[in-house]
Amino acid sequence: MSELDIRNVHVGIDGHEILKGVNLIVKQGEVHALMGPNGTGKSTLAYALMGHPSYEITEGEVCFKGIDLLELEPDERSHLGLFLAFQYPVAIPGVSVANFLRTAINAQRRAKDPDDKGISIPEFRRMLKERMDFFQMDHSFAGRYLNEGFSGGEKKRAEVLQMAALQPEIGLMDETDSGLDIDALRIVAEGVNSLRGPDLGILVITHYQRILNYIKPDYVHIMLDGQIVETGGPDLALHLEEHGYDWLRKRKRSAAA
Ligand code: ADP
Ligand code: MG
Repeated sequence: MSELDIRNVHVGIDGHEILKGVNLIVKQGEVHALMGPNGTGKSTLAYALMGHPSYEITEGEVCFKGIDLLELEPDERSHLGLFLAFQYPVAIPGVSVANFLRTAINAQRRAKDPDDKGISIPEFRRMLKERMDFFQMDHSFAGRYLNEGFSGGEKKRAEVLQMAALQPEIGLMDETDSGLDIDALRIVAEGVNSLRGPDLGILVITHYQRILNYIKPDYVHIMLDGQIVETGGPDLALHLEEHGYDWLRKRKRSAAA
């Protein structure tokens, strides 16, 4: 069984320490929610895990499937089965959603088997149609340039579509709920729920409890100021909705004093 094992990770941006010792284990088959107010470092963790060059890991270790993740290039991390749905997906003008997905799928297949001929066009089309139907996307979506002029909801659906097509072992979803109206949120959440199963571990990053009404996490973690300060079950998210983060801030301050 695959697991992502994050140990005492410190991350700096331009010499400023943002993450101050994060510990977290996500296993295949589990759904974790990472919550916390804006600016606490949730996205920083996601970017650092994917190998974004601006996010320097100054201390700590990350092991994925027993391999030192930090030694790998971003594409190698992805081929190994780690997926990141971005909070702010970038547009790729000139590259259609379909082309992007087919290229990504083929790169992943070739990383596993250098002789792989790639997914056949009919098989790819069938898979893509099936997934788009599931996410209630118009088929013309496949021909549009990735994220160019996409609405907030379309961007998020495109991210979940990518995750469905790439079938990662661990998926990180950064604020996949932001900018979604309630219908789009439900579709995205149903999509994620449909992918749930023993082969997929998910880390849902959100500062908003709302998506957790639809995606029921097994574990909830709360990040404050670059550290996970509380871990619990789904009830913790409900507790937060009612009480906010202040009790954790106070507890942290008195522990530091
Ligand atoms: P969250 O996702 O929890 O809202 P972020 O990880 O985006 O928080 O940000 C954590 C802190 O790091 C913030 O103070 C933010 O301003 C800072 N930060 C994030 N990314 C960058 C960057 N590329 N350059 C400089 N500072 C950054
Ligand atoms: Mg963020």
